[in-house]
Amino acid sequence: MKILCIGRNYADHAKELGNDIPAEPVIFMKPDTAVLKGNDFYIPEFSQNIHYELEVVLKISKGGKYIQEENAHKHYDEIGLGIDFTARDLQSKLKEKGLPWELAKAFDGSAVVSPFYPKENFNLKSLNFSLLKNKEKVQEGDTSMMMFSNEKIIAFVSKYFTLRTGDLIFTGTPKGVGKVEENDILEAFLEDKKVLDVRIF
Ligand code: MG
Repeated sequence: MKILCIGRNYADHAKELGNDIPAEPVIFMKPDTAVLKGNDFYIPEFSQNIHYELEVVLKISKGGKYIQEENAHKHYDEIGLGIDFTARDLQSKLKEKGLPWELAKAFDGSAVVSPFYPKENFNLKSLNFSLLKNKEKVQEGDTSMMMFSNEKIIAFVSKYFTLRTGDLIFTGTPKGVGKVEENDILEAFLEDKKVLDVRIF
């Protein structure tokens, strides 16, 4: 199983980090070892600035290569939420030097994934999702604000990477990313349903 992630898919988030709006999706990957087991996230010793990024996650139900945009909906049937934990201090250093982001993005526990739900249960074109930190709303997004739709993303990434059943796609974060501290509690909501609960250690 592999995890493909889209960067800068919400213009308001790209701006908050001072990035340009991309003409093509920005793509990076996390290995399967990045998936957090359980609900406890331990801040790694190599970072002083771990950020949460709440994202809608697609689960690939049917593999493929060179998937056309108009067929892409047939390749995923469930969605959930995920947190793309990012060592922002490391990422900034790597970006400055033009180096790959893996150390900042793909470490153990950096991919938090909720249970998955049938996509028919939702209006995917305008899906609301939000993150509370210590009961206070810190991020709220709506998929209507995505620059690249789920279908466009699947078509784009499958040109480069064969998709397989069970692969996950993190579709990007809206604005409001921020730092986690020891003892924080993160709760993620898909529409009105709480789907994730994470404690920071
Ligand atoms: Mg992200």
